[in-house]
Amino acid sequence: MYQTTLKSPISCTGIGLHSGEKSVMTMKPAEAGTGIVFERTDLVNGARHFPARFDLVSDTFLCTTLRNASGATLSTVEHVMAALAGCGIDNALIEVGGPEIPIMDGSSEAFVFLIDCAGVDVLDAPRRYLRVLQDVKVEDGDKTARLSPANCRSFHCEIVYDNARIARQNASLDLDNDGFKNDVARARTFGLMEDVDTLRANGLALGGSLDNAVVVSGDKVLNEGGLRYDNEFARHKVLDAVGDLALAGAPILGAFDGYCSGHALNNKLLAALFANENAWCWVTAGAEAERLAATA
Ligand SMILES: [Zn+2]
Repeated sequence: MYQTTLKSPISCTGIGLHSGEKSVMTMKPAEAGTGIVFERTDLVNGARHFPARFDLVSDTFLCTTLRNASGATLSTVEHVMAALAGCGIDNALIEVGGPEIPIMDGSSEAFVFLIDCAGVDVLDAPRRYLRVLQDVKVEDGDKTARLSPANCRSFHCEIVYDNARIARQNASLDLDNDGFKNDVARARTFGLMEDVDTLRANGLALGGSLDNAVVVSGDKVLNEGGLRYDNEFARHKVLDAVGDLALAGAPILGAFDGYCSGHALNNKLLAALFANENAWCWVTAGAEAERLAATA
């Protein structure tokens, strides 16, 4: 019903997936109405802040990147955004000392742990939701992403890979029932061995390793210990969708359905939603509870 923030600041250190460079990230409490705002503390000139908004997304290749008014960028925001959304945090300032959010183990687990350690503070302001009123669908070839009206915040992803180990997988999540922490937060990002070689040759994913990604070669998972879930790949797609859709700036009351969708399509979906003013409206938590009680 009410907006939340962190009870106290909390930090971690990790490397960036693309640069391989170490940076410190600190999550701090913020006032009601702030939303999630990132700040690059290494920048001396120009704007250092990056509001977590879909319309500031500048690049979706491999990860979701924000670009601010000064043209500075901040990459790999999706896993920490997913953790904040999954833990119900509305407002926070996330400081980071470089151009990338640390990749940690490639999942949201470390960020959820930090949020749990910091604790959640309930603020004296009602939470605002974005209610989906009409189906909105975007496509890219046979890939699709859709938002439909619903009284909950649900996610479903299906992926189909031309790879024997990944093949076809599904995963679902109800964001309102602690499902994120229990079923999705530990699912790691993944890649195919042949793609890893190409990325490295192009100077990308320099920080990538078996410590922060599941790597698949043919029908084998190369990581010692194997997978955390049988459908870890589809669960990670749900995690990414939770993080990418959190860039709407408020929790979305609606059902997300992705078929082979990724960061680019998730971002296109939010743009399509906001472009159609009949497809959504703002609702505040108290008014929404009364409305639901009246229609029950
Ligand atoms: Zn991801």
